[in-house]
Amino acid sequence: EDEGEKTLRSPICCIMGHVDTGKTKLLDCIRRTNVQEGEAGGITQQIGATYIPAENIRERTKELKADAVLNVPGLLVIDTPGHESFKNLRSRGSGLCDIAILVVDIMHGLEPQTIESLNLLRMRNTEFIVALNKVDRLYGWKTCKNAPIGKAMKLQSKDVQLEFEHRTTQIIIEFKEQGINTELYNKNKDRGETYSIVPTSAISGEGIPEMLLLLVQWAQKTMIEKLTYSSDIQCTVLEVKVIEGLGTTIDVVLVNGVLHEGDAIVVCGYQGRIHTTIRSLLTPHPMKELRVKGAYIHHKEIKAAQGIKITARNLEHAVAGTALYVVGPDDDVEEIKESVMDDMRNVMSRIDKSGEGVYVQASTLGSLEALLEFLKTPAVNIPVSGIGIGPVHKKDVMKASVMLEKRKEYATILAFDVKVTPEARDLADDLGVKIFISDIIYHLFDQFKAYIDNLKE
Ligand code: GDP
Ligand code: MG
Repeated sequence: EDEGEKTLRSPICCIMGHVDTGKTKLLDCIRRTNVQEGEAGGITQQIGATYIPAENIRERTKELKADAVLNVPGLLVIDTPGHESFKNLRSRGSGLCDIAILVVDIMHGLEPQTIESLNLLRMRNTEFIVALNKVDRLYGWKTCKNAPIGKAMKLQSKDVQLEFEHRTTQIIIEFKEQGINTELYNKNKDRGETYSIVPTSAISGEGIPEMLLLLVQWAQKTMIEKLTYSSDIQCTVLEVKVIEGLGTTIDVVLVNGVLHEGDAIVVCGYQGRIHTTIRSLLTPHPMKELRVKGAYIHHKEIKAAQGIKITARNLEHAVAGTALYVVGPDDDVEEIKESVMDDMRNVMSRIDKSGEGVYVQASTLGSLEALLEFLKTPAVNIPVSGIGIGPVHKKDVMKASVMLEKRKEYATILAFDVKVTPEARDLADDLGVKIFISDIIYHLFDQFKAYIDNLKE
């Protein structure tokens, strides 16, 4: 095998799209087939991520006779539920995801969260392919289990093919309306400018071979530099979770480098930086043993790219969506401690200097950042005077209420994907602070805009 194989890391791929388009099912499909066939060296369900080794991709794509040389060790697909994954995937300015799959339901076309996903992808300049899922729901579809879509499509009746063409054309127009050029993968001559659409079924597996091959080939072709393995640690905290018996743990994606048990690490915390030591590096058992609940494999060390659960002391206030640093023997601890709060400071610095604006509350630093970016866009242009992370508490309502004296319409909390405590709700009602809640960014905008327009009348 050539030298290149050793130096590339696995591309990190994110699955995005509207709810119920089949994001989870697509991953299930990739995994289950493998388990059913009982292959060794199979896919493992990792923390917030699924690792698909290259042998597996080779196996799944062999019918395509692509003669694909796979130079990457595999593909790491991030499958944290919902949107959170992507919003959290930021590490010191550069998006963590190398590539994304945008899932669209062929029966529904573009939906609100599809468009929101598109905007996030554009904002981060992330390459993506479109999985046009649920093709098996076309009336009269003949199942061709796990077949390449090219082959499956040829076996369909004229009516099915016509319905497919009709719906696909319509969806390509919907993308165009969003300013995005798309084309069926086999007709796409200009992959740099035009995004490829791969029809798939997550139920019967048609199109999965093309989807996997396209992802890996595209990543290998255009991202060699980005994918070149580096021993400099690049690691992002995806989620902070309390696990029975383990206490507060962090789920991380290790993009580059090696983590060891006992490494001194520094992570960003709500109440300042957290300096601690890795107690254990954990991954779940491979798929077949996933039913062994609560049992993890312990590792002395793990090399990128991987999804890992870390246990350590003092992680209670860790902030999801920020970078994790390892303090090496020659590193300047103070310098690292400075940079660790950069992510937090960076986001904090975006609030309006005039002191006039709405109050914004989000579930993670990543989602807060996405919301702030959105509010800043010229078409929206809503100033922000204060921000918070986590549930809306009384103190947040107090802070927002300051605007009642200055600009009443800004005495508003835009609560993005967070809960509002009953006490906070009561206080807001008493004081006249408006709270808008949604887990879709631009619904918050719509609500706020309707409110403002109403005030003006
Ligand atoms: P997610 O919200 O995007 O993760 O969507 P899920 O993977 O949970 O799927 C939502 C629903 O759509 C479930 O009932 C799935 O069984 C169904 N579904 C997903 N993919 C397909 C598909 O390719 N074909 C059909 N017929 N149903 C699908
Ligand atoms: Mg899901």
